[in-house]
Amino acid sequence: MFEGLSGRLGDVFDKLTRRSSLSEGDVDAAMREVRLALLEADVALPVVKRFIADVKEKAIGQQVIRSVTPGQMVVKIVHDALVAMLAGPDGAAEPDPMALGLDIAQTPPVPILMVGLQGSGKTTTSAKIALRIKTRERKKVLLASLDVYRPAAQQQLAVLGEQTETDCLPIVPGQMPVEIAQRAMKEARAGGYDVVILDTAGRLHIDEALMAEVAAVREIVRPHETLLVTDAMTGQDAVTIASEFNEKVGITGIVLTRVDGDSRGGAALSMRAVTGVPVKLMGMGEKMDALDAFHPERVAGRILG
Ligand code: GDP
Repeated sequence: MFEGLSGRLGDVFDKLTRRSSLSEGDVDAAMREVRLALLEADVALPVVKRFIADVKEKAIGQQVIRSVTPGQMVVKIVHDALVAMLAGPDGAAEPDPMALGLDIAQTPPVPILMVGLQGSGKTTTSAKIALRIKTRERKKVLLASLDVYRPAAQQQLAVLGEQTETDCLPIVPGQMPVEIAQRAMKEARAGGYDVVILDTAGRLHIDEALMAEVAAVREIVRPHETLLVTDAMTGQDAVTIASEFNEKVGITGIVLTRVDGDSRGGAALSMRAVTGVPVKLMGMGEKMDALDAFHPERVAGRILG
């Protein structure tokens, strides 16, 4: 793992004489490579700068253990710092990839609100979460689509509901998102559902109308979890998307989708760093069971290349 960064740092340190501790000059040279690796992985620039400053402080003056090269030593320091930043204050990786890490042990029906831009994977992730809660927690789940703008969006969720054998709120033409949310909660109470997953509409870009609408739904429903779904391919925009949704709507977790693709996933670090909100889940494919608990070590490995 980290052949990319290890190779680069090897080259940097080969040029330097071996010392017993890391000097400021060594660390500066190494940090130039780390900076490039992070930018190539699409981590946002302000986040890269902050990360480099933190790591530099940690690395300077550290004793180089005899059994490793200074390059290996820096890679380890960088890797550990990256994992710590991705994992946040709660610490270590969830050992069980099937765990959801969602706050659903509440008085039913527990609402979960899914938000994000169009095409990020919200609808797919809504159905994946429903399936996981049903099979793993043995809870009764109701899916409801509040997307009244994209043609066939409600139908798409209904199809996924059928595929996962999860109930989906019947479509009533002409209803607006807040009305649908209210109807979903009423139906959930009447039908004895444990969890209601509300899939909101996305837009291609963030706009005020979208934010106001999602905020209005949130006011009515008071969800226990509001999950921002973002494509792992999202580059520098990840910071704006995550901070806008967090400021205007308030999010409790991030789902990173398309982690099965070849993106390096720097968006995870950017979003975690600017919002302080944990990345909880990763979408690992189009299939309904392709959902894993977030794994900081795995993502750190990809970011470092
Ligand atoms: P929405 O507009 O946010 O609701 O996005 P959709 O749920 O409709 O997803 C858009 C496309 O991305 C669909 O073709 C999904 O099958 C696909 N998709 C969603 N999540 C993943 C994932 O984790 N991996 C892959 N490879 N494709 C995904």
